[in-house]
Parts: sequence; structure tokens; C-alpha cells
Amino acid sequence: MTASMDKEVGEFALIRWIKEQVGSENTLIRGIGDDCAIDQLAADSQLLTSTDLLIEDIHFKREWTSMFDLGRKSVAVNVSDIAAMGGTPRALYLSVGHPKQLSEMEFKEFIRGFIYEARQYDVVLAGGDICASPGPLIISVTVQGHAKTGAAIQRHGAQSGDTVYVTGTLGDSALALYLLQSGQTPPDFLMQRLHTPGARVAVGRCLSEEGLATAMLDISDGLMADLDHLLVASGVGAEISLAALPLSDAFRCELNKDRALIDLALAGGEDYELLFTSQRSDLDQYPSLKPGVVKIGTIKTGAGITLRQDDGGIYQCRRRGFDHFIDE
Ligand code: ADP
Ligand code: MG
Repeated sequence: MTASMDKEVGEFALIRWIKEQVGSENTLIRGIGDDCAIDQLAADSQLLTSTDLLIEDIHFKREWTSMFDLGRKSVAVNVSDIAAMGGTPRALYLSVGHPKQLSEMEFKEFIRGFIYEARQYDVVLAGGDICASPGPLIISVTVQGHAKTGAAIQRHGAQSGDTVYVTGTLGDSALALYLLQSGQTPPDFLMQRLHTPGARVAVGRCLSEEGLATAMLDISDGLMADLDHLLVASGVGAEISLAALPLSDAFRCELNKDRALIDLALAGGEDYELLFTSQRSDLDQYPSLKPGVVKIGTIKTGAGITLRQDDGGIYQCRRRGFDHFIDE
């Protein structure tokens, strides 16, 4: 396939096409199309598996991050997909394309960071592969986890009337990247959100164990793009309140200088927060859901996302969510 065809088709259309080629050969509970694949392990237990690729100069720049933090992030973004199903992570597999210029010390720092972060989630590095790369540093991570049969929260269960929630704050990571790209030094908090995001495993597990969410995913491509995935999978639409978006103090500080930065909270990506829907409208008061969930809108019949402003008007986000084959 030519590069120009790639640009027209886009990442998600390519994934749909791959899924069509697999067709009905899939004997799993869930194959392509959610944060993790789901397979039946035993009568009461299901295996969750997800894999992610990080490529130098696309997902990270070595001059902007330490190798230790890169190791940490490689784990967190992967474990986040287990959190997105409400599962418990168990094992990680790490494959590395190792460029010649990467020193032994740098590589060992990466592994130290990887293992440090894995310990935060009680998950173990169980295998992998390593080979020389003629170009960039390439990191491929696969994570396995488990959930009680039927407890994993998929993308397709949202219904009209459900409340839409997110964890944490949005846009911090994208704002840090935006500031770095424009030659500025982001505040420490924003840098931490970009380089060492946390996976919301405890919140995800609480939601699945208590049966509180109807649909869920983690925000990796931006709120608009990932909410759209959830809405399409569920066959519904959503109205989101712009004023309700949870923003950090550091984000608000920059937003006060440039209101257009709100689009980074809507479509910047790499938040690794959970986005979920629930029939309960009081979960922001729920004691076990730490570090807090925030109500941002409501599921409606129909399709698409309406961004409602305080004055009743509709806001148009000018950014698109991240797509490897469409973004320049
Ligand atoms: P996430 O952002 O949660 O990691 P993605 O948007 O990357 O999810 O992928 C969406 C779905 O498509 C997932 O189920 C993923 O496993 C699947 N997928 C992505 N790339 C491929 C591929 N090359 N082959 C098969 N399935 C893929
Ligand atoms: Mg995901």
C-alpha cells in the first residue's frame, strides 16, 4: 500500500480492514477492537492481553526523556489497557530493537525504569526479545492480565441516559509536548504527566468488581477520539460539558494565556486516564474511586459528540485525535 493511500485510509480504517480479514476465525470472547483481547482461562477467570509499540522520534524523543522514565512509561501505557478493562495485570513481555548508538548504560537505565514501574503494579517482566536496530530505538510491550468472567468492561455497553466520567485531569501530557515543541520548558508537573503517566489500575478494578461501569476505555488518542470509539462501539452519542472537563492548575495557568489550548484537553492524547460510562450519576462521591472521578457529560441517543459551552452554545474542537497515518 502506498504512503498516499495510507494517508487517505487512516489508522482506524486499517484496523477495521485487518479485522475483516480475520473474519469469524476468531474464537476468543473478544478479539480486535477493544483495549485488550479477552480469552476464557477457566470457568471463573478470563485472560486479558494487549500490546503496544513505541518508536523513537514518533512516540518519544531521547533528548526530552531519561532512559529510566522511558522504561517506566513503556510499562504504564501498556498496563493502562488492562486498567481500561478493569483487570489485574500479571505479566509483561518486552521486545527491543536496539540501535548501535544506545550505550549499555542507557539500556540498563531503561530496564531499571521498566522494572521499577512494573513493581508499582505488582506485575512481572516475564520474557521478550532483543535485536539490533539499524535505525530508531523500538520498544514493543505486551501485557497479560486477568478478570473474573464477565467482569471486564468493554467499549460497547454505553446506553442513553448513562453518565460519562473521566479520572484525573486531561491535556497535561499534550500541553507538556506542545511547550517542548515550541522551545519552552514545561513546569515539572506537566513533564511528569508526559514522561511518567500512571495506569489507573485500582480505579478500573473497583469499577469492574462492583459492576459500576457500562463501557470503558483509556484515553490514549485524546478524549474526542477515544470517546468516539466508545460511542461507535455502543451505537450512541454524547453531550459533554466543556466547563466540566477536569484540568490541573498547571494546565489552567497556560489556558489563561491562550484559550485555544483547551483543544489539547479535548484531543491532545496520551492522558492515560480512564473514560467510562455508568448508570449511576453519583460516582464522583464514591469513596473507593480514588484519585477521584469527574462527571463530564451524558450519553444520548443518536451519534457523535456535542461539546456544550456554559452559555448553551456548541464548541467546535479544531484538533483531531492522534492518528498515525493522518496526522502530519
Ligand atoms: P489502544 O489505543 O487501546 O492501544 P488501538 O487504537 O491501538 O487501541 O487499537 C484498537 C484495536 O485494534 C485493539 O483491539 C488492537 O489490538 C487492534 N489492533 C491495532 N493494530 C493492529 C494490528 N496491526 N493487527 C491486529 N489488531 C490490531
Ligand atoms: Mg487503550
